Amino acid sequence: MLSKMSNGGILVVGSVALDSVETPFGARDNALGGSATYFSISAGFFNRVNIVATVGTDFPRRSMDLLRKRGIGLDGLTVDNGKTFRWKGRYRPDLNTVDTIYTHLNVFKTFDPRIPHELRSLRYVFLANIDPVLQAKVLASVRKPALVACDTMNYWIQSRKKELVALLKKVDMLLLNDSEARELSQDANLIRAARWIISRGPGIVVIKKGEHGALCVSRNSCFAAPAFPLTTLRDPTGAGDSFAGGMIGYLSRVKKHDDATIRKAIIYGSVMGSYCVEDFGVNRLLRLTPNEIQKRFQELRRLTSF
Ligand code: AMP
Repeated sequence: MLSKMSNGGILVVGSVALDSVETPFGARDNALGGSATYFSISAGFFNRVNIVATVGTDFPRRSMDLLRKRGIGLDGLTVDNGKTFRWKGRYRPDLNTVDTIYTHLNVFKTFDPRIPHELRSLRYVFLANIDPVLQAKVLASVRKPALVACDTMNYWIQSRKKELVALLKKVDMLLLNDSEARELSQDANLIRAARWIISRGPGIVVIKKGEHGALCVSRNSCFAAPAFPLTTLRDPTGAGDSFAGGMIGYLSRVKKHDDATIRKAIIYGSVMGSYCVEDFGVNRLLRLTPNEIQKRFQELRRLTSF
């Protein structure tokens, strides 16, 4: 069921990072992270993923090898003079809120994405969390994708709102968390917030609500998916990108975007997000097996059946 087929794969632009995190369960410094990294490892269970991003000369060779060994396409990942993007976050005791301690864009400040020719016709494009100006540049270089999905965060909503809203016209799906949806639309009600976003372009808005699941709103439908009821949760970093990886990975593999398929894709997203948070950084995703993915998918099906 989860075996990968050669159907073109996915192009992702986003951050490849060295993350430092503190949670009530421990801390890690300069560990492999970044939105494109989490997305690729997660979506890589469903399809081939190609990263467009930059790292600095300090990026560990073992992290590069790790991505390569998982079959992630790295032709669009450049090593530029300077330091790798770094982010540090500290989670509050409920693990639902993270305070950003620093964001050092480093090599992303001057990054000029160049998409290798053979990647320009990939049919599934994910604009993972990064400067909307870079997301737009990548989108301008690709040919007629079947689906363009986009993620963002408060950092860009605050610093690049105009560019982000302009980008929305060109994307089919926006994924963001509840506080980001409220901030972007200036509306506390999530359904109205989703409609505000839909009126600016994307036909589908997926609002992620952490331990409370996800809400998918389109012009004529609404679907609520629960989060998996976890008892072990150590580090929420990357949950959103892993969710997106499961969702877009599944859609790109079945190559359908009807309502029923999107609902299934959201459940795969929920499965991947739930595994990600069980351990620090990408550790749990690295140990994950296709059988575990299927098992949790079925458990979520039982959980929501009545
Ligand atoms: P999430 O899935 O939302 O938890 O995303 C976590 C990842 O986002 C971390 O690995 C960070 O490296 C990355 N990140 C944090 N801030 C930014 C930013 N401003 N732009 C791009 N990536 C970021």
